[in-house]
Amino acid sequence: MISGQTTVAAVIGDPVRHSLSPALHNAAFAAADLDWTFVALPVVAGSGAAAVDAMKTLGIGGMSVTMPHKDAVAAAADEVSDAVAALGAANCLVPMSDGRIRAENTDGAGFLAGLRDDAGFDVGAKRVAILGAGGAARAVIHSCAAAGAAAVTVVNRSVAKAEIAVALAGDVGRVGNVADVATADLVINATSVGMGDDRSMPCDPALLHGGQVVVDLVYNPLETAWLAALRSAEIEAHNGLSMLVHQAAIAFTHWTGVPAPVGVMRSVIQNKFS
Ligand code: NAP
Repeated sequence: MISGQTTVAAVIGDPVRHSLSPALHNAAFAAADLDWTFVALPVVAGSGAAAVDAMKTLGIGGMSVTMPHKDAVAAAADEVSDAVAALGAANCLVPMSDGRIRAENTDGAGFLAGLRDDAGFDVGAKRVAILGAGGAARAVIHSCAAAGAAAVTVVNRSVAKAEIAVALAGDVGRVGNVADVATADLVINATSVGMGDDRSMPCDPALLHGGQVVVDLVYNPLETAWLAALRSAEIEAHNGLSMLVHQAAIAFTHWTGVPAPVGVMRSVIQNKFS
């Protein structure tokens, strides 16, 4: 029951009505027995900073942030995490006890947590190859390097974008080409290739081999053509579901201070896409 005591959390974006976040977080609030509710708020481009101010004025308990506001809220927040400082983009706003707003980016930490969940894999001292250099790739590049990867190789269609993104990995980063996936311990598809009805693949599955771990950040569909090909070659390959769940779970804990019901959140998404 929503009452005068209920805390409101929200996702802002444009478009945002399609967002999974309300279903995900409302199920999580219910499972954790919290008097919170979560809504989607369309906010037009250019109004990200105003939304940060509105969050303070209205006492919103937590905000998820999607396109096109990730950069604007990072700039407008009163305090930023290390990941936000590096990436210049935030996906989560957290009110602090003094009323100021802290910006977080939970994608990278969500990726690492998902990888531990799915594969028991820790990137420390491992060689990582990332296909892509967009927003998701940048978060993964930064988090892998920060977690102690031995090498972070960035492979992207636009080499100029790869050269910008690789700076997030510092000394362990380099721009590579698609043949580099063969020598990595962990290979990540962070391009949008394979989303929806797209049956094309981010690289030739024959370049990969058993003993490697592969993650396709795409979660819709849950099994892309690339994942299916890798799995039939008996290569360990995971989809983007766990990253999606964990980036939301980390946001939930930032807002509420309690552990997220990860299993409940996973079921919500699995039911949506299966
Ligand atoms: P983005 O910023 O638009 O970046 C798209 C990337 O895909 C760029 O590197 C782009 O290369 C590349 N690309 C697009 N079409 C391509 C093609 N035909 N051939 C080769 N490369 C191509 O998108 P994003 O937000 O990073 O999202 C990327 C993917 O990650 C999407 O599939 C998204 O669903 C997924 N994702 C998953 C999660 C999760 O929680 N699991 C979270 C965020 C994103 P250029 O630079 O050359 O254009």
